[in-house]
Amino acid sequence: MARFEIPAGWTAQAYRFALDPTPTQLRGLVSHAGAARFAHNHMLALVKAVADQRAAERSYGVPEAELTPVLGWSLPALRKVWNQRKHTAAPWWAENSKEAYNTGLDGLARGLDAWSSSRQGRRAGQAVGFPRFKSARTPKAVRFTTGVIRIEADRRHITLPRLGAVRTHESTRKLARRIEAGSARILSATVRQDSAGRWHCALQVIVEAKARPAHARRSAHPVVGVDVGVKADSLLVVATPDGRELARVPAPKSLTAAQSRLRVLQRRAARQHGPYDPATKTRRTPSKRWRATQARIGRTHAHAAAVRRDVLHKATTVLAQSHDVVVVETLNAAGMRAKGGARKRGLNRALADAALAEIRRMLGYKTRWYSSHLVAADRFFPSSKTCTACGRRKSNLTLADRIFECDGCGMRIDRDLGAAINLARLGEPTPTVGEQSPAGSGPAPGRGATRETDPASAGDAAGDETSTPHHHTVDQTGTASPQGEAA
Ligand SMILES: [Zn+2]
Repeated sequence: MARFEIPAGWTAQAYRFALDPTPTQLRGLVSHAGAARFAHNHMLALVKAVADQRAAERSYGVPEAELTPVLGWSLPALRKVWNQRKHTAAPWWAENSKEAYNTGLDGLARGLDAWSSSRQGRRAGQAVGFPRFKSARTPKAVRFTTGVIRIEADRRHITLPRLGAVRTHESTRKLARRIEAGSARILSATVRQDSAGRWHCALQVIVEAKARPAHARRSAHPVVGVDVGVKADSLLVVATPDGRELARVPAPKSLTAAQSRLRVLQRRAARQHGPYDPATKTRRTPSKRWRATQARIGRTHAHAAAVRRDVLHKATTVLAQSHDVVVVETLNAAGMRAKGGARKRGLNRALADAALAEIRRMLGYKTRWYSSHLVAADRFFPSSKTCTACGRRKSNLTLADRIFECDGCGMRIDRDLGAAINLARLGEPTPTVGEQSPAGSGPAPGRGATRETDPASAGDAAGDETSTPHHHTVDQTGTASPQGEAA
């Protein structure tokens, strides 16, 4: 399948808007999502039936040439067969846009491809299972790639095929302005329902690379380190290599309130009649109250995420615009994905990990936009355990210790500030023996750090303002640079 080529100087990005659909539109959305699920399940059943039939025929000794013909697993092949069958399988098919059925078939084609390439060892990572039937509980989603997808001039409506103008919960002005100026183009729209029950529309857009706004002056401090805190008093601490605290972004009150509400709700859910019976170690039907608590947990999570995203967007824009080099920690991705990881390491740590992942993603594309650099510290870099005065490491520091106290020189410093200073020092140019790093190449990352972004490669840079998986997302684990070793 020919992939769309992004023109040079443009980047792919997604804009996400919460929707306030009318009751009729809501029924339309549910119907479209149901149609996607129906097409997926119908064709999956057919794929399975054909495979079973061929296996049975083989066992009877039917020659290979006379077996039931294979059913193609590509999207065009699935679509062709679906179009032949839809009149009998789904006589109501005309009620929904063809994009709905395409969404389901596309998901199936991807699932089948992932399974077969995983089985043949062509796919990295965990083994992928054979696609499963989607139940009514599967998150509802539909993707529109053709037809009228438009932002209305009132900046409060998005027009989608079949559904018409759907009201957005917030203004679309930022994207609308770019579209009106000719520096953005909508490619497709994905409408999905989140765990809290709210519908969102993510518009996949290509935008022309931004120039640094004239009013955004570069700071006098070219290199900064950013520590992502665990405690509510400092979501972010920004510091310079020479030990100056430039900014401290506290977690907004509504975020800390949502987090304590989450703890209360999770304790409540644990006391209720859940889907797992610890006495008999079996699954059971959860109670209505347990379900209601889960729905509230979902809504609270969504609210907390929205508040956090807003704060982080503002902070990362300032960082990328005003400094040349921004250094952040690298997340321990494997630890994050480990089973029961978040529960074991506590909600605070899980939230800090989520914030760190989001900051890195945002800084990844914003440093490209504003021609600055993102440097990621090695995942084992002891940013909060190293004394900023004498460099001595402390091994017995726990998350509860808010103040770092050095056993060597007696230095006392706020833990987050110390970590930010140590990170900032990673971003300073490393003097090699006798001379500075080569001119014109910008600052080279120090020991234990990796340069993440380089404006020279801005052509294929991709911004992504949503959590939608994206082909261009950069994610590298840090390694010590040879230059750092030589110093
Ligand atoms: Zn010390």
